[in-house]
Amino acid sequence: MNIAVLGTQWGDEGKGKIVDMLTPHFSAVARYQGGHNAGHTVYVEGKKFVLHLVPSGILHPGVTCVIGNGVVVDPVALFKELDELAALGIDTSGKLLVSEKAHVILPYHRELDILSEARRGERKIGTTSRGIGPAYEDKVGRRGIRICDVLGDRDALAQEVRENVSARNRIIKDSTLDWRPVYEQLLQHGDRLRPWVGDASLFLARVMQRGGRIMFEGAQATLLDIDHGTYPFVTSSNATVGGICTGLGVPARAIHGVLGVAKAYTTRVGEGPLPTELEGELADRLRESGQEYGASTGRPRRCGWFDAVVVRYSVRINGLDALALTKLDVLDGLPEVRVCTGYVKADGGTLDELPADLRSLASATPVYETLPGWSLPTKGVTTFEALPPEAQRYVRRLEELTGVPCAIVSTGSDRAETIVRPDSAVANWVA
Ligand code: GDP
Repeated sequence: MNIAVLGTQWGDEGKGKIVDMLTPHFSAVARYQGGHNAGHTVYVEGKKFVLHLVPSGILHPGVTCVIGNGVVVDPVALFKELDELAALGIDTSGKLLVSEKAHVILPYHRELDILSEARRGERKIGTTSRGIGPAYEDKVGRRGIRICDVLGDRDALAQEVRENVSARNRIIKDSTLDWRPVYEQLLQHGDRLRPWVGDASLFLARVMQRGGRIMFEGAQATLLDIDHGTYPFVTSSNATVGGICTGLGVPARAIHGVLGVAKAYTTRVGEGPLPTELEGELADRLRESGQEYGASTGRPRRCGWFDAVVVRYSVRINGLDALALTKLDVLDGLPEVRVCTGYVKADGGTLDELPADLRSLASATPVYETLPGWSLPTKGVTTFEALPPEAQRYVRRLEELTGVPCAIVSTGSDRAETIVRPDSAVANWVA
């Protein structure tokens, strides 16, 4: 049984925690898209781990973590992350496999990212400026450099780097970057990367042949997907379920279940519409109690009520079997909680589905349903029945509005602060 765990909103839903707690039931955890722009924070017995590129399964022994071809890899960022994990006592040797087909983020991709954002001015995307977008642009432009190229024929690599640098020099006015230092640096990175590199698709096929289970770990989220998200305020890859097949080289029939991670409210970092966005005291309260600051950039996240239109859309796009509802505890103590059930358009008409056109989304007014809040804490609760009745009602209402069960309810950042509903899909997957 292989499952996917992916984000249903605009990211930062707490995927890292959910992947980490499910990992003991899997033999491999595989990332299929994105780069070190992701920031998955995991707390284990009070110790904080922030993972960017390495799958969140790395904290467990006996699990192989895979970085697929759909991921773009900055070798410097990868080495830094591995060194940091080693310093925290996590042994990564023999536990990581990086696809030879993954594209490399080159040193100047970051510079191109910053330049492209500056050129967009007011219409900037709000990227993490880590060079992810430009690396994907080079991939699609068929001038990217893959890890196998770095480890392969040196003359061929020199030619590829020369071409890539000259394409970059054409973009940046008056730039005459020399390709040679870039090439030399890549060779050095190749030497350190070599022991981790292999055929990820073949590896995963063998895991399945042996009866092992794989968890596919999404980064970013559905509303940030390049095709299905709020374009152009999106990431450069397919964070939705389809990205798994292309980003790892696994067939669609290898995905047996899909778990969508949804926060009990909504947040977004960066630009673009957020229909249920709150301002003022309530937004500050959610931001502070939810610690809504980006794990990669430290940027404050925009906060709003749960948007059932958004999560329903994610259910459809990804074929979600169940939800993992996170951060319920952040709503503790609110006198009432609201859920967006639909939108009213600028012309007064109603909208039950997410519009493709961003202007329509930006001008849509949410329709809210108000439910009673709860004064008793949900923090740390581990069974559904022990939740305050109003919190149970809130979760049940979200299930009705999204059409899928909340198989997991997370009530705190630690692994242990989790409810796994006994009769749910997840309980069967991990049985
Ligand atoms: P990801 O990128 O989707 O993994 O999410 P992030 O790591 O960026 O953000 C989620 C944050 O919420 C992390 O700091 C988690 O430790 C924290 N978190 C996850 N689940 C819960 C929860 O149920 N309650 C609280 N209070 N924090 C949580």
